[in-house]
Amino acid sequence: MQPGGEFDLIARYFSRPAPDGMLGVGDDCALLSTAPGCELAVSTDMLVEGRHFFSDVDPRLLGHKSLAVNLSDLAAMGARPLACTLAISLPRIDPDWLQGFSEGFHALSAESGCALLGGDTTRSPMGVVISITVLGEVRRNQALRRDAARVGDDIWVSGTLGAADVALRLMQGRLPADAARLCAARPFLERPVPRLKLGRYLTGVAHAAIDISDGLLQDLGHILDASQCAAELWLDALPADPVLDGLDAAVRHDAILAGGDAYELCFTAPPRRREQIQTLSRQLNLPIARIGEIRRGAGVRVLDAGGQVLPIPHRGFDHFADEG
Ligand code: ADP
Ligand code: MG
Repeated sequence: MQPGGEFDLIARYFSRPAPDGMLGVGDDCALLSTAPGCELAVSTDMLVEGRHFFSDVDPRLLGHKSLAVNLSDLAAMGARPLACTLAISLPRIDPDWLQGFSEGFHALSAESGCALLGGDTTRSPMGVVISITVLGEVRRNQALRRDAARVGDDIWVSGTLGAADVALRLMQGRLPADAARLCAARPFLERPVPRLKLGRYLTGVAHAAIDISDGLLQDLGHILDASQCAAELWLDALPADPVLDGLDAAVRHDAILAGGDAYELCFTAPPRRREQIQTLSRQLNLPIARIGEIRRGAGVRVLDAGGQVLPIPHRGFDHFADEG
């Protein structure tokens, strides 16, 4: 094996022993099986330098986030992580960067029980590109699908909203510099926590679910389109993160309703499940707010405290609709 080459890099930074019953890095394919009565949940997410992360981001945080955003999709289906693959394209071999990135990645992989079983490593003519595929298992017919919302369901959201968006705005100079606010907001952007336990507990309780990667309105909109229904949201019930305190109302509303990178779960459930969901929130020590209702029709209406419909400037992030 050529020292410092592709295979040495894979062996050093990415090859780890596979869990019992799985074949990991080193063959043409990885091998694994799901438990009887389960189906495989598969999802891929890509992160591109300059698009999804700043070039100077701490590589350890990037390793964490690259896997976290993928695990968030498993959480949103109610699936339990099994394994992942990592395709990475790098302009050069930077040992310090690879050390940090792989440590962040493997720490979350171990914590979530999502073994790295393979991937691909190439040189990139431009920036770093990371593409991860996660594999999870969920009991047959129990996955939390986007098309399962029903008229009369409550709409819920975990955690708080808006903090990651505020961090991004501060780092891009779209909000006046504020060191204390940035310090509080930045972990939400750089170190999201996939809501895996919540997702798994919601199977059999919730109807539809989605993770908020592109903004609450946009992502809830996907549930509504798939389920052919409408939603009413209550502005006062939306769990604004405390780092939004003191910002103008327009910025706060935009960060809460359209801010991306939240990685909280938005889900719908019949009203008879309210108590169970509140108990779950206490058990997981995770706030879960009831923010609205599924209605007949199409689209989302956001009502303020006086029952007036809030005008909505935009729904959220879309790679090909926005300026870039
Ligand atoms: P192939 O020629 O079959 O595409 P490669 O030479 O690309 O295989 O990779 C060799 C082995 O290393 C394979 O098992 C592959 O899954 C694994 N691998 C390559 N890159 C990575 C990576 N970034 N992370 C984890 N495993 C990797
Ligand atoms: Mg290959």
